[in-house]
Amino acid sequence: MTIKTNGAGDAQIVALPAPKKSIGDSALGTAYSQFDRAAQILELDTGLADSLRSCQRELTVNFPVKMRDGSIRRFTGYRLHHNSARGPTKGGIRYSPHVTLDEVRALSMWMTWKCAVVNIPYGGAKGGVICDPKQLNIHELEGITRRYTTEISILLSPDGDIPAPDMGTNAQTMAWIMDTYSMHKGHAVPAIVTGKPINIGGSAGRLEATGRGVMFTVREAFRAMGWNFEGARVAVQGFGNVGSITATTAHEMGCKVVAVSDVEGGLYNSRGINMPRLTQWNKEHNTIKGFDGADAISNSELLAVKCDVLAPAAMENQITSQTAASVRARMVAEGANGPTTPEGDAILSDKGVVVIPDILCNAGGVVVSYFEWVQSLQQLFWEEDDINSRLEKIMIRSYHDVKAKAESLKLDMRTAAQVLGIGRVADATMTRGLYP
Ligand code: GLU
Repeated sequence: MTIKTNGAGDAQIVALPAPKKSIGDSALGTAYSQFDRAAQILELDTGLADSLRSCQRELTVNFPVKMRDGSIRRFTGYRLHHNSARGPTKGGIRYSPHVTLDEVRALSMWMTWKCAVVNIPYGGAKGGVICDPKQLNIHELEGITRRYTTEISILLSPDGDIPAPDMGTNAQTMAWIMDTYSMHKGHAVPAIVTGKPINIGGSAGRLEATGRGVMFTVREAFRAMGWNFEGARVAVQGFGNVGSITATTAHEMGCKVVAVSDVEGGLYNSRGINMPRLTQWNKEHNTIKGFDGADAISNSELLAVKCDVLAPAAMENQITSQTAASVRARMVAEGANGPTTPEGDAILSDKGVVVIPDILCNAGGVVVSYFEWVQSLQQLFWEEDDINSRLEKIMIRSYHDVKAKAESLKLDMRTAAQVLGIGRVADATMTRGLYP
C-alpha cells in the first residue's frame, strides 16, 4: 500500500514535479489538455494551477481474494481524492480490466469540475479495481468488494469521501460497501455510499438519474437554440445504465431513437427503434445483439449515423482524430466521461457540431447522489417526482450557467464548463486560504 499526499496546503506544492502535459489519446491526456486551456483563460497563478491539476491523495491497494476454485488471487485497486476544496470528495468506483492509475486520476479530476459546474457542495474522487466483473461470480465480486472497501476505508467517511457506482459496479456493490463499512463501525452508516438499493436507504430516481439528466440538458439546449425537439433523431453509444436510460428517456420525451449499441455491436432503424421492446429483449438476452426490430451496424457505424443528437454513453476516447470526421450529428451529448479527445473536439468544432460536455451533460448521476446523501444523513426520504423536478431544475440552471459563460467569454461549451468549474474550485481554495 502506498499513500501520497499532495494537498493544496502542502508547502512543497510548487516544487512537486508537474504531471506530463500530454499523453496521447488517454483519458488523463484529455483531462490535462482541457485543464490547461481553462487555467490559461482563467489566468490562474501557475502554482495554484499546478496544485489544482494534481490529485490531492492517491491510494493504491493490493489485496488477496479467495476464489471459488480455492485458489488465491491478488487484485489491485485505487481510491483517489482529486480535490476537497468545495466539500467531501465524491465519485464512483469502476470495476474493469482496463482500469489504470492514470485513468482514475482523470476520472477523479472530472468529478471535481463536474460537482462545481452543477454547484453541489462536493469535491472530486474516483476509485477502481482492475478486474473483469463478467468473468467473476457473485461470491468473488462480494469478496473483492468487501476487501477493497476495508483497504480503502482509511479514506472513506460519510462527511469525507462518498463512493457511488460507475462502470462495472451497481447498487449491489454499494450495498456490500455500506455493509462492510457499517460492520467496522458497529452501526449502519447509510450515508457512506450513494447509488445503494432503495430498501437500505437508496434514493428513488438515482438509478435513472444520469440518463434523465442527459436528456433534460439536451431538451433545454434544443429549446435555447430554437431547434425542434419533438421527433429529434437520437443515436446512443453504450447500453449500460447511462446509455439505456438515455435512450429510453429520449423515446419517452418524444424523440426518435434511430441507433443504439453495446460492446457487441449496434442497431439502426431509420423509423425509430421500439425502446420498450428492445429493453425487454436486453433484459432477456443480456445484450441488444440479435434484436429483430432494427438492422445490425458496427460501433463505428453508430458514430457516423446521421442524426440530431449523438450521445456517447460508453467509454473514454471514442470521438477522436480517427472517428470525429465521420460524425454526422448536429449535437454531441456526452453521457460518458471523457468520450471526446481534444483532437476530436477540434474536428467537431470545425464541423459546427454543438457539444454538451460530459461534466455538464452527465452530472445528473452525482446530483441525485447528492440528494441521496442528504436523505441518508437526515433519514428523511423524498418522493421520486420531487427528485426528478429538482434534478431537472439543476440541469437547466447549470446548462444556462455554462452557456452564459460561453457567450460572455466567446468559448465553446466544453471550455466554458471547464472554466466555470475550475474557476469555482480556485475561488473556494483561495477563500479558504492555504493551510498552514
Ligand atoms: N460515477 C458517476 C459519475 O461519473 C456518479 C458519481 C457519484 O454519483 O458519486 O458521475
